[in-house]
Amino acid sequence: MEQRRYKDIVAFKWGQGAPLAFHARNLEVAEISDDAWNEMSASEPSLAGAFKALTNWESENSPDVKSGKLSVGIRSLTINVTQICNLKCTYCAAGGDGTYGSAQTKINVEKTLPQLKLFLERIPEGGSFNITFLGGEPLLYPEGIQEIGNYVRLMTAGRDITTRFSIVTNGTLFNEKTLSILRQLKANITVSLDGPAEINDKTRPTRNGIGSTSLVVEGLKLLETCRSDLGSLTLHGVFNRENLEIAKAYEFFQSLNADRYEFTYSVEENDDASNKLYVEQMNDIAAKAYALGGESELRKITLFNQYFNALDNQQQTENFCGSGKSFLVMDAKNNLFTCPWEVGNKEEKVGENTNVDFARMENESAPLIEKNNCQNCWARFMCGGGCMFIHKKGTGSKHQKDGQFCYRTRSLLGTTFIYYKLSRASC
Ligand code: SF4
Ligand code: SF4
Repeated sequence: MEQRRYKDIVAFKWGQGAPLAFHARNLEVAEISDDAWNEMSASEPSLAGAFKALTNWESENSPDVKSGKLSVGIRSLTINVTQICNLKCTYCAAGGDGTYGSAQTKINVEKTLPQLKLFLERIPEGGSFNITFLGGEPLLYPEGIQEIGNYVRLMTAGRDITTRFSIVTNGTLFNEKTLSILRQLKANITVSLDGPAEINDKTRPTRNGIGSTSLVVEGLKLLETCRSDLGSLTLHGVFNRENLEIAKAYEFFQSLNADRYEFTYSVEENDDASNKLYVEQMNDIAAKAYALGGESELRKITLFNQYFNALDNQQQTENFCGSGKSFLVMDAKNNLFTCPWEVGNKEEKVGENTNVDFARMENESAPLIEKNNCQNCWARFMCGGGCMFIHKKGTGSKHQKDGQFCYRTRSLLGTTFIYYKLSRASC
């Protein structure tokens, strides 16, 4: 798509109808005239007529825009209840086998509860607290999940705090016992799955080399019997140069009756050709989804849903994630880190047991779009400065942007604007 820019307006020529423009601060999408489009590339644009309207729009600051500033204070905690796994995925970023290089069968719950108390006491009335159970494979220690869940509910009972529980699982261990615990917590469930058996069995084999897909499909059938007692169900695939079969994964996911689908480009991957292919494939499934069921089908794909929400609410984002500000990870040895992929990295360790460096979090409060020098990027308030872990993998520094990440983000935002335009006749 050809693209032109005037200050905080970026415009796209997309082959159908008038050029489409995006206001980077106001998060507004609108058609512009061909005259305005032509003036955008003129060396000395005429400040009259069509271009004048564009400059007026650019200078507006909409009162409906919601600030993306993030207040410091831990509201989300990911807990590695195990650091072992029954699978051995080819791209596992948790040390290659779910252990992060240091296997731990079970988290010590006696040590975990006082840590939780420390965070819960700091949540203001009217606030929220989100816990995500991760591993290794978290359902290898369901009793730990139950004890932690019970404790958080007990500690928040009678207080005006919203608690949400989520789990990221390989989906091979759903049974009566594990599902009963997840139902008690009304947990949102994310199942990792990279596509149909011919793909997923290769990328996500069990430890003894047998494919895991049939176990996941059986588990999802069981889960279906108690769906109404659970939160949302998301299927999550990871893609890299070894597997870019996103269209096949999308087709397979559609047969499994989930609420949402996630197609993530591996945080470990750094290959330019694969990156471009990933964007092409995402564009292909967006077209398929929209043709199949319009906005609602497209929004089953989490990325597009997130962008549509931001545009509908004119909600800016100044931090791609809350890493080290509003979000921490507890490993299975009760150490605290800023990011799931930084478990074990001393530089990103911010505490152990009840000894937590809250001062460091205060010092991290500057928005990522500033720290990462994204002030001139038109995508900044939709992106929030990007994933620090991916930046570090690509450039060696978590605050130095990875070009491939930026390409993916801006390309898929361009795609989003088109479907947003098609879905919102009036914009
Ligand atoms: S990380 Fe890249 S795409 Fe995101 S805001 Fe910064 S420059 Fe823009
Ligand atoms: S830095 Fe990246 S990988 Fe780490 S928590 Fe943030 S988004 Fe996730």
